[in-house]
Amino acid sequence: MKFNKRTHTCGELREDNIDQHVVLNGWVDTRRDLGGVIFIDLRDRYGITQVVFEPTFNQSAHEIGKDLRSEYVISIEGKVRRRPAGTENPSIPTGFVDVMVEKVVILNKSLTPPFQIKDKLDVHEDIRLKYRYLDLRRKEMQDNIILRHKMYQSARSYLGANDFIEIETPVLMKSTPEGARDFLVPSRLHRGRFYALPQSPQQYKQLLMVSGFDRYFQIVKCFRDEDLRADRQPEFTQIDLEMSFVDSEDVYEMMEGLMKRLFKDIKGYDLQVPLPRLTFDEAMEKYGSDKPDLRFDLEMVTLNEIFEETEFKVFKDTLNNNGIITGLLAAGCGDYTRNQLDVLTDFVKKLGAGGLIWMRVKEDGLEAPIAKFLSDNEKSELKRKLNASAGDLIFILSGPRLKALSIMGSLRLEMAKRMNLIGDNIEPKLVWITDFPLLEWDDETHRYYAMHHPFTSPNLEDLELLSDDPGKVKARAYDLVYNGNEIAGGSIRIHDAKLQGKMFDALGISNEEAETKFGFLMNAFKYGAPPHGGIAFGFDRLAMLFANQDSIREVIAFPKTSSGMSLMDESPSIVDESQLKELHIKIK
Ligand code: ASP
Repeated sequence: MKFNKRTHTCGELREDNIDQHVVLNGWVDTRRDLGGVIFIDLRDRYGITQVVFEPTFNQSAHEIGKDLRSEYVISIEGKVRRRPAGTENPSIPTGFVDVMVEKVVILNKSLTPPFQIKDKLDVHEDIRLKYRYLDLRRKEMQDNIILRHKMYQSARSYLGANDFIEIETPVLMKSTPEGARDFLVPSRLHRGRFYALPQSPQQYKQLLMVSGFDRYFQIVKCFRDEDLRADRQPEFTQIDLEMSFVDSEDVYEMMEGLMKRLFKDIKGYDLQVPLPRLTFDEAMEKYGSDKPDLRFDLEMVTLNEIFEETEFKVFKDTLNNNGIITGLLAAGCGDYTRNQLDVLTDFVKKLGAGGLIWMRVKEDGLEAPIAKFLSDNEKSELKRKLNASAGDLIFILSGPRLKALSIMGSLRLEMAKRMNLIGDNIEPKLVWITDFPLLEWDDETHRYYAMHHPFTSPNLEDLELLSDDPGKVKARAYDLVYNGNEIAGGSIRIHDAKLQGKMFDALGISNEEAETKFGFLMNAFKYGAPPHGGIAFGFDRLAMLFANQDSIREVIAFPKTSSGMSLMDESPSIVDESQLKELHIKIK
C-alpha cells in the first residue's frame, strides 16, 4: 500500500507549525463524532495530536473518517491550524493546535481491543499479559520501557567511561550450582548431556579477570528455576561487573558513582555519596533485615542485658540458649485495642513466633499480661532503654537470634505501615550492608551453604575459623539496599586455588565433586589469577523502583506470570514427539 510517510510525529506539532502542510501516521486513540465534525486523537509513541474531519473542509476525507475505529492505523495529510479559542487542551504539548484533514489512508484496521489503550487501566493483569503487545501501546508502559532504555544507556556510558569492557558470556553453559536450581537444556548432539542456562555469569567473569581484562561488565539475562514468589521472574536481567586488583572499598566507590549517575540521569536527583553502611549484624539487630528500609527510624533494641538475672522463664530460656530478646517501641500506640493486638500477634505467629509480648506504657507503670513476672528494676530499665513514655506501646520477641530478629523486622515494617511512617515523596535511602556471614547452616540437610556463593572470600582475619567454627566466619560480601529492596550484591572473590579448596571443604563439597563441577575455574586459578571482586545489580528491580512501580513485570516488556507462564505465547508448551525423540527424551 502506498502511503505518505510522516513529516512529523504525533507529539511534535506546536503553534510554530500553524498553516504548514503535514503528514502524520499513527493509531486512532479516540474518536468523537460531533454530528458532522469528527475529531480523532492520533497516537504514536511520541504523543497525541488531534486531527479534524470536517465535511465542508474535505468531503471525501470526512466520509472515510466515519469508518475509523479505535486502534486503526492511519496516515493523514492536512493543514495545521490554531485550535478555536476555548477548545485548547493545555494538558498535552500539542494541545494548542490540530490538523484539518485533507486526505486519509487506512493503513490497517483493528479488531476491538480487549481493553482500552489508556493509563490507569483497571483490568486483570492476566489479560494485559495475554495481549502484552497492546498493553505496551499504553503510555504508562511505554514510559516504563523507555525509562529502562535510558538506564541501559546511562549505565553503559558510565561504565565505558570507567574502562569497563562489555563482554558477552555464553547462555549455554555447564550446570554448576550457584545457589538456585539450573534450567537445563538437553543436547541433541550429545545424547544424555545437558547445558544449563547461567544463573549468572559468575564464573565467566572471574575467568575474564584471569584473562587480564581487568574491568568487565555486561547487561545480561540470568536464569534461575526457583519456586514461585510474587515478584520473581525465571529470567531476569543483571548489570554484572567484575574488577581486578581491588578490595571492597574500590567496588563501593565505583558503584556509588554508578548510582549517582543513574539517579542524576533518570530521576534528576543528586545522590549524596559515599553511602552509609551497616554491618549485617547491625542491620539485623536494629532493623531485623539484611535489606532494611531506612526511610523511617523505628529501630529495634536488643534487651538481653536487662534480663540477665530475670525470673521470667521465657526470657531466661532464651538467654540460656544464646538467643535474643528484641524490643520495638511503637510511640503513641498505647491505645491499641486488644483486638488490634490480637491481629498483630497472629501476624508474628504466622511468621513462626511463639507469641508476641506487648506492654502499654502508663504514667504509673506497664500494663501487660507479663508485667507480673518482671521486677520493678526490669520494668524501669525497659522503659529507659526503649525511651518509652506514657501512651506508647512496647513489643518484645525472644528466641533464636536470626529468627526472632527477622520476625521483629517484619513487625517493624508492619507497624511503619500502620503508623504511616513512610509518607510520600521522601528522599531515597541507600545503604551498603557489609560483613555478611560466609556460611549459612541448614537444619534440614545438616550442612553449611555459602550465603552468597562458593567463590566469595572469607574475611582474611577469620581464615583460622574456617575449619574450627565456620559459622562465625564473615565474608567479604556486600549488598546494596534501596528503600528496603536489595538492588545489588557481590563480593571480593577467592583467587587462590588452595583457599577455594578449604571453602569447598567447609561446604562439604568433596574434591571429586569440586573437580567435576568447578574444575575449569580451579584450573584457571593455577595460572595467575589476580585478586578480584565484583557485584551484580538486579536491573529489573532497580528499573521498577526508578519507575515508582510495585512489580518488576511493569518494567519488563514480555514478563512471565509469577507461576512462570507466558500467557501471550503460552510457554512453557508441549512439544512434538519428534522433537523429544531427537533430544533422547521420554516424558513419563
Ligand atoms: N553473581 C552474583 C549474583 O548473581 C553477583 C556477584 O557476586 O557478582 O548474585
